[in-house]
Amino acid sequence: MTTDAADLKFRDPETARELADDLADLMAEVDQPVEIMHVCGSHEQVIAEFGLRSMLPDDLSITMGPGCPVCVTNMPEVDEAVALAEAGKTVATYGDMFRVPGTVRSLADAKAAGADVEVVYSASEAVELAEETGEDVVFFATGFETTAAPTAAVLQADPPENFYVLSAHKYVPPAMEVVAEMPDTDVDGFLAAGHAATITGYGLFEEFVAEYDLPVVVGGFEPVDVLYGLRRLLEFVVEGEGGLDNAYPRCVSREGNETAMAAIREVFERTSGEWRGIADIPDANFVLCDEYAEYSARRAFDVEAVEGEADPLTQECICGDIMAGTASPDECDLFGEECTPSNPVGACMVSDEGTCKIHYEYGGQPDL
Ligand code: SF4
Repeated sequence: MTTDAADLKFRDPETARELADDLADLMAEVDQPVEIMHVCGSHEQVIAEFGLRSMLPDDLSITMGPGCPVCVTNMPEVDEAVALAEAGKTVATYGDMFRVPGTVRSLADAKAAGADVEVVYSASEAVELAEETGEDVVFFATGFETTAAPTAAVLQADPPENFYVLSAHKYVPPAMEVVAEMPDTDVDGFLAAGHAATITGYGLFEEFVAEYDLPVVVGGFEPVDVLYGLRRLLEFVVEGEGGLDNAYPRCVSREGNETAMAAIREVFERTSGEWRGIADIPDANFVLCDEYAEYSARRAFDVEAVEGEADPLTQECICGDIMAGTASPDECDLFGEECTPSNPVGACMVSDEGTCKIHYEYGGQPDL
């Protein structure tokens, strides 16, 4: 076990094999099944794309938790965006949100029916749209801390009066607490998302570790980063104790990006809210605080209910169980049949970070 986080060669096969050997040695010491949960679609992508599960000892499993921001955006939040588009507002949002089903329709459906829905790459592009058109532009703002920070920054920069935010931003740590407390989950440790921790700092997880006595390791997004993060987690498991480590020191510090966090704290307050299919999670939704309420689309406009019949197939979607780590896409009767990336029934099949789409593209455990 000589590899150090600071010396990782991102895709070096020899290092990967050494780390896989380390994992096997550590699992022999544990002598019982171990389940690690990651909470990041980017981690699932690298795990699936590089077939990392095939390198793991049999009793070590990695499941994906509520780490896809598009997938956890609740249907009523999508409905609000659809209703605003159908009411004549220009709705700007990230590309991944475009086809996510609401209760009745997606934003893509609304656009096909004539609504003005624009895909943007950033919050500032949505502001530019408002400046250029002079029309009311509602930025449907989704994602975790990594996208909440730029949303906060554009609001701090005094955007035009015709720019509004429909915030569906979410905050990950409370969701980890909910998952850790779910009776059906048996998670032995969390691999935390390196990009979110770049903003929040890894110190954010100290409270969680103290409360739940579980190991948390912040990991990067190359294959060797993930294997190294798993090794650190197993070392904690072998010791039989919780603990926190930063396995992504080339990007993540204990404090994170203090300017970005200050912007989030100034613009948003946290409130309880439903994450799609998972639970009502305390303090896990970002909404605009009073000082920025003038930009709130919810406050500025009456959002009517979306009319129409819900697709009955959505009742069979088990995205919530998948994001809670208690089911895999293979257990969904619709996977690869009625539900495919070109015809998604649930949000997990839409986003590039959705577990179902990743499993559809790469297979859950490719045989390398
Ligand atoms: Fe939902 Fe489709 Fe995944 Fe099934 S395969 S859980 S319907 S997104």
